[in-house]
Amino acid sequence: MDLRDLYQEVIVDHNRKPRNFHRIDHATRKLEGFNPLCGDRLTVYLALDGNTITDLAFEGSGCAISVASASLMTETLKGKSIREAEALFENVHGILTGKPGDGLPGKLAVLGGVREYPTRVKCATLCWHTLSAALHGADEPVTTE
Ligand code: ZN
Repeated sequence: MDLRDLYQEVIVDHNRKPRNFHRIDHATRKLEGFNPLCGDRLTVYLALDGNTITDLAFEGSGCAISVASASLMTETLKGKSIREAEALFENVHGILTGKPGDGLPGKLAVLGGVREYPTRVKCATLCWHTLSAALHGADEPVTTE
């Protein structure tokens, strides 16, 4: 299976059946993100215990790439530390904005395929920007523009 097939398969799967697609009633933090270029709008919920992300979920609506990216992000970062989340955000952002990098771990590697569609990069990074802002305690909605 080449990367293009894998890309299609993972994006379609996570868009059709998004993981962790719900609100968290007792979220430590929640934050909205909006990508006006595409109309993607989502809310990221996170529960923290010290420096550990014990729960991570999202709700909202958007294109397949924005939903799949958020689904992959929540699946990957649940149970991880804030430091790991921030390191991965830097890595994802770097890869998608064309900096050379080490590649992304596991299924997140498919997000690198979004680089071939420059107009969709903000769809893929929206949830990551929103999570990063939430981790920094932001309370204003995040917008990619
Ligand atoms: Zn989009």
